[in-house]
Amino acid sequence: ATPTSIMVGTGRAAELGILFRKGDALQALRDVEVVAFDKTGTLTQGQPELTDFVLMQGFEQTEVLRRIASLEARSEHPIAAAIVASAERDGITLVNVTDVAALPGSGVKGVIDGEAVLVGSDRAMRDGGIDVSALATQAAALGDAGKSPLYAAIGGRLAAMIAVSDPVKDGSASAVAALKADGLKVVMITGDNSRTAHAVARALGIDEVVADVLPGGKVEAVKALRQNARVAFVGDGINDAPALSEADIGIALGTGTDIAMESADVVLMSGDLAGVPRAIAISKATIRNIR
Ligand code: ADP
Ligand code: MG
Repeated sequence: ATPTSIMVGTGRAAELGILFRKGDALQALRDVEVVAFDKTGTLTQGQPELTDFVLMQGFEQTEVLRRIASLEARSEHPIAAAIVASAERDGITLVNVTDVAALPGSGVKGVIDGEAVLVGSDRAMRDGGIDVSALATQAAALGDAGKSPLYAAIGGRLAAMIAVSDPVKDGSASAVAALKADGLKVVMITGDNSRTAHAVARALGIDEVVADVLPGGKVEAVKALRQNARVAFVGDGINDAPALSEADIGIALGTGTDIAMESADVVLMSGDLAGVPRAIAISKATIRNIR
């Protein structure tokens, strides 16, 4: 590849909001066979809304939501922001929480009024010894609707199940379709639960899903895909940084975290995933001009 043609290619890409941070990325991108996407904030808008609340017997809804929101106010997860916003809309005042600890990839815990409070996924509950099987049918229905079921335990007892919904971005389905039309395999990798992940993947035309992965698991998933193919990984979060580095090509969203962008070869300035097939097309056109 001549330096001039690479410059022309990267310049054209930059006009479209696609920044090639490394010179060889433009050439490497044309050889990509698999594109793996993070779900939350990448394929989805990353701004979940609290949509459902199922209260267990013996608990009072406002008090449960107060505890959940007070705890989540101490978490930085996008789900936490959704829950706090919902409680604020309902005029619920928050209370003090001590002994707060994040459970990476599964939830958050703390102590309120001398009682342990745990909020998170079924994994968080399993790890905390809380049985959620009474809600299995309802949780499955929420997951099949593309919503993420979460649970709250107070004083060691299951208090509620809530669900958050994080709609897909407008451009996600068409970006996936364009990649598939180009003969690429498209994969979703997510820390969310399997049912929810499959429902979202189905809506987007994604055939392969790796779900329920812990934060360190995304890099393992990319490694596994790299056994058989050249892989691009697209992500936005702190959790995505190792996977962005591991992939043959890391593509970060400019709407995401700095650490993701720093770990990437390519940055899509807007969060628009149309930039992924577009970047590959520019790569192919550039290399074609050279040969
Ligand atoms: P992802 O962003 O792909 O969903 P994460 O590793 O950030 O992956 O989270 C995995 C799952 O853990 C979330 O889908 C959610 O179910 C749960 N979780 C993590 N943090 C929290 C939190 N603060 N409150 C509730 N649930 C959480
Ligand atoms: Mg994300």
